[in-house]
Amino acid sequence: MTPEEFRVAGHELIDWIADYRAGVASRPVRSEVTPGWVADALRGAPPEMPEPFHDVMRDLREVVVPGVTQTQSPGYFAWFPSNASLESVLGDMAASGLGALGITWQSAPALTEMEQVVTDWLRELCGLSDVWHGAIHDTASTACLVALLAARERATALSEDRGGLQAEPAPLTVYASTQAHSSVSKGVLLAGFGRDNLRLVPVDPVTYAIDIDALRRMLADDAAVGRRPAAVIASLGTTGTTAFDDVTAIVEAALPYDAWVHVDAAMAGSAMLLPEHRDLFAGVEGADSFGWNPHKWMGTILDCSLLYVRDVELLIRVFSTNPSYLRAASDGEVTQYKDWGIPLGRRFRAMKLWFHLRLAGADAIRQRLRRDLANAQWLAGAADAEADWEVCAPVALQTVCLRHHPAGMINRAALDAHQQAWAERVNASGRAFVTPAQVEGHWLVRVSIGAEATQLDDVVHLWDLCRESARAVSP
Ligand SMILES: *Cc1c(COP(=O)(O)O)cnc(C)c1O
Repeated sequence: MTPEEFRVAGHELIDWIADYRAGVASRPVRSEVTPGWVADALRGAPPEMPEPFHDVMRDLREVVVPGVTQTQSPGYFAWFPSNASLESVLGDMAASGLGALGITWQSAPALTEMEQVVTDWLRELCGLSDVWHGAIHDTASTACLVALLAARERATALSEDRGGLQAEPAPLTVYASTQAHSSVSKGVLLAGFGRDNLRLVPVDPVTYAIDIDALRRMLADDAAVGRRPAAVIASLGTTGTTAFDDVTAIVEAALPYDAWVHVDAAMAGSAMLLPEHRDLFAGVEGADSFGWNPHKWMGTILDCSLLYVRDVELLIRVFSTNPSYLRAASDGEVTQYKDWGIPLGRRFRAMKLWFHLRLAGADAIRQRLRRDLANAQWLAGAADAEADWEVCAPVALQTVCLRHHPAGMINRAALDAHQQAWAERVNASGRAFVTPAQVEGHWLVRVSIGAEATQLDDVVHLWDLCRESARAVSP
């Protein structure tokens, strides 16, 4: 494709994106395709000869669009806000257009230095001190794995330089609440700790925050029999109910063992932009690493996950490699992000954050987050006001966990099935998409408010739909 051909097709694509976004509210929110439908529609022989742009666009419209959940729809209340602000889409396109290669500072100085600037901007906007050094990873799962690898190496005085974990005299243990995200246990397994050494700590039955006394006991019991507590993961904004662990208490509990504390605030971290909600994040300054995803609620298009660490020296010690072909005269003076994590090649991810922050401005982002918090409070209030509805977890931010109790239904299994039934009816309507989830063994329905397009009216309509649906499936 020549630049002139690109210009023509590119303009058409931009128009298409703008039309798609403008009309997204009219599409069924949950994808209605059946397994295999998309692949069947797209299959055929591998293209040998160029096809018209127009044919590709037709398949994009007719096959791909119905084949995705409409996360940008005002009726999207599933999983977590997966916003993709158009400001950040422009930045992502600029990054792709530039086609920079991020392997060392020298390969694209602007890629490295813009990443330093935007991670510092967000650190400041979140009210964090300058002891933190940030990098952009693809996801919070990767960020958590990086933190666990650093924790492993700190606890073993760099066992990677010797026999690795396999030569350690005592098993290393890791702690997280039962409500921690599944990526935590995945990271624990991938970092080589082994499932036997993962301790899932019980939570408070009302707040779903980690039970600190239970954590202290588990740490002491492990240490007493010669195990080595290596890391504790604090969850700020759990996946199930957006519960907040007490990071201050976790840091204190971990201190006698010199265990690494990683804070996973993947979804909730956006709220740190709001000074009036910083108390939820108290204690973070005492942790060793802290991660959150601008690609969720804040709305810098996926993939954009921040990991801040205090001890960059250790990180570099664990992750650096220095083959001859990557060495340069400037090495001592510059940041080499390849030494801060797993991949060598790096996308220009900073560009989408830079476009997003510069074109939208932090103030407008804060106003939108506040709007979502107010909408969540409205829904919680409406549900509280009805005798047959229960708001079944504290509404710390924008997630409202609901249970409907039809008159006379007291059997737990029947109640569990009923929650799934009314959620399915909401989702099958195409007008909204919510997520039923099991929390501590029982089903509830999560309404995660915060799509960029969702206004109060949309939440009011959702509430009507929830009530209609619950009535329709009640005995
Ligand atoms: C979404 C989420 C994750 C996983 O995020 P990815 O970036 O998709 O890996 C981890 N922890 C929490 C609390 C989350 O909300």
